[in-house]
Amino acid sequence: MGRFDGRVAVVTGGARGIGRGIASRFADEGASVAILDLDEAQAAEAAGQLASSDSADGTQRHVGIGCDVSETASVQAAVDRVVAELGALHILVNNAGVTRDNLLFKMSDDDWDMVIGVHLRGAFLMTRAAQKHFVEQKYGKVVCLSSVSALGNRGQANYAAAKMGIQGFVRTLGIELGPFGVTANAIAPGFIATDMTDATAARIGMPVEEFRQAAADRNPVRRVGYPDDIAAAAAFLCSDEASYITGQTLYVDGGAKLVS
Ligand code: NAP
Repeated sequence: MGRFDGRVAVVTGGARGIGRGIASRFADEGASVAILDLDEAQAAEAAGQLASSDSADGTQRHVGIGCDVSETASVQAAVDRVVAELGALHILVNNAGVTRDNLLFKMSDDDWDMVIGVHLRGAFLMTRAAQKHFVEQKYGKVVCLSSVSALGNRGQANYAAAKMGIQGFVRTLGIELGPFGVTANAIAPGFIATDMTDATAARIGMPVEEFRQAAADRNPVRRVGYPDDIAAAAAFLCSDEASYITGQTLYVDGGAKLVS
């Protein structure tokens, strides 16, 4: 018996990286999972790789759905499809993300709008569409991906603003949705080895392994993080064991925040 038997979870940006790790963890623990990502074929491919089994609560089914989380109509259509195809919606993980790093004087309007649009507007649109189902059934779990960069990071004015915005967003969701059986929390990862951090290495012209080793050397626990580290925290915050925790931001960073 898994912690998420009979539950339906949505993970945005779940076709790769951290989102894929979270989707796998939920599926391993019994949830039916909808992976939402820009490219429906990639989302479907990732959904097809998830574990599924027959349980007392029924057969797990997974689905991959093309969705741009920054577009209202796309979000509404995707949430409608999740409920139509998987029968309900209990857990939402707002994970989809992009970076458009630049020093402020070089940051374009598009760099700003893109990053705020995907992270902050995306989390807002997805949560607004999902809350209708959560409130009706008096049950729901929201986890949003923040970042240690919320505390400030050179070249990431757009990303830091979005990621600190996420922290204020979940605090407010905690207040508004708590009376309806809904919790909302954020996870703020440190350096996690994914395509996103590999792209940063490429941008500054450093080999990926060297870039990861430098991050590990700076970290109190002397390693980088992996998607499984974030998936474990997401699974806890979305479990019923965490029903008295809401509006919080959990830093999952090996202690990076302590020494920055
Ligand atoms: P990633 O490997 O770049 O994956 C991001 C995923 O989001 C991709 O599948 C991407 O799709 C999807 N996506 C982008 N824009 C989207 C949109 N408008 N609608 C739907 N999906 C969209 O990133 P990651 O490293 O796994 O990061 C996941 C989350 O953790 C992000 O919110 C990120 O900011 C946060 N985070 C990451 C780290 C880290 O060190 N990696 C640290 C702190 C926080 P495509 O493949 O089509 O582009």
